[in-house]
Formats: sequence, structure tokens, C-alpha cells
Amino acid sequence: MLTITPIPAFNDNYIWLISLEQTHYVVDPGDAKVVIKHLKQLNIQLNGILITHHHYDHTGGIAELQQQYQNKLPVYGPDNEAIDGITHPISVGDDKISLPLSQHEVKIFHLPGHTLGHIAYLIDGHLFCGDTLFSGGCGRLFEGTPQQMLDSLTQLSQLDGATQIYPAHEYTQANLRFALVVEPENPQLQAYSYKVQQLRTKQQATLPSTIAQENAINPFLRADSPAIWQKLTTHFQQPIADKQTSFTLLRQWKDNF
Ligand SMILES: [Zn+2]
Repeated sequence: MLTITPIPAFNDNYIWLISLEQTHYVVDPGDAKVVIKHLKQLNIQLNGILITHHHYDHTGGIAELQQQYQNKLPVYGPDNEAIDGITHPISVGDDKISLPLSQHEVKIFHLPGHTLGHIAYLIDGHLFCGDTLFSGGCGRLFEGTPQQMLDSLTQLSQLDGATQIYPAHEYTQANLRFALVVEPENPQLQAYSYKVQQLRTKQQATLPSTIAQENAINPFLRADSPAIWQKLTTHFQQPIADKQTSFTLLRQWKDNF
């Protein structure tokens, strides 16, 4: 069975450590120092690295980790982004890879939006989704269009509800402040927000979340909710005609929230 542990980095990043018995991978190691320290404390060795996209807070530790492991680590990542140190490039046509973390093939999702080459890894019901899907929110559109991001999020929202999601940031509380403004009457959102507050008071991680949870509370997966359309109509003083307009305006509102 997989064991998945967050290694906190910078202000609010999580570098996820995925372990299957004696095999250990990290996802998006922006900072090598915290990874090396964590591995040392557990007296374990790293076997590989998974990268979701090119941003430095996800890739900045690759070179130092390779140095530590005599350049023997396999490093998986998208082949269409400028990332130094990828040894196992994943192309847009690749929808699965084999990893020593599972007997099954690992499914790859291509999720343009936050960046154009952003990918996610689904390993035995655990989704490592980088900066595409957060609990209660989604990544900013640095490179893609709203339609691309909406399509990417729609792919993820259709996964089995029990799928656990492991985003790369602890943004949940701030995301829920916005979610509660756009959908204040959602009882599941209210209950989740209370739970998240309790966790953050104790400085505990709010992650993983699940696809079912996100479908119930995340406004960016609920861009067709009539209650949200009503809020958007009032806020932007314009009628909402379709889900894409709703999503675009939600993202715009959140960017300035
Ligand atoms: Zn990013």
C-alpha cells in the first residue's frame, strides 16, 4: 500500500513523498534541502522524481537531488516545457507510464491552463495534480485560456469520487473564503470550511481532499451552479449565458479577490 506524506516547503508548498515499501519518489521538489533532511530523518533513499510543470517552486531542487544521488534518479516530466534535468520526458500522446510505485500503469493527464504543458499523475487512486486543481480552487491562468483550464478541470471532476487529490499548495483556507462569497448557501461548503478552520488552527494539512468533496464545494468545478451564476450576474452586472463565461468570470473575480 502507498504511503503519502507532505514535506512542507517555502511558505505553502507541499512536496509529496510517495512510498511503496522501500521505494520512494517525490513530486515537484522545489527545494532539495527540505527533501534531503526529511529522507535523512527517516533513513531512507530517494528513487525518483515526478514533475507536474516548469515553475521554479516545483523544479528548483532537481539538480541538487541528482547531485546527492550521483545523477541516477529518473526524473519524469512534460517534454514540452523548459525544465532542466528531465530524464524521462512525457509527451502529449503519452497517457500512461510504468513506475515501481504500482503494479498498475500510472495514468497521465495533460492539463493545459496554469501552464501549457502541465500534467498530473494518477497512481492507484491518488492524483498528484500540481497547480491545476487545489482544494476549493484552481491554479491561475498563466499560460492557457479559461476554456483550456475548464476542459482540464472537467477531466479531473469526472474521475471516481473516491480519488484522493494531492495539490502542491496549502491554499484551502483562502480558497474557501472566496468560495463562501460565491456560494454562501452551500451546506457542504459551510461544513467543509468549518473542518478546514479546525485543521489550520492546529497547523495541520487540509490535504488530501477527494474528487467527490471538490465536486461538492469547489466553485471552479461548479461553474454551472445556478446559485453561482446569480452571484456572478450581480457582481459583474451582466447575464451569464454559459458555463465557459461563468468559469472565466469566476477566475477573474478570484484573481482580484
Ligand atoms: Zn505553478
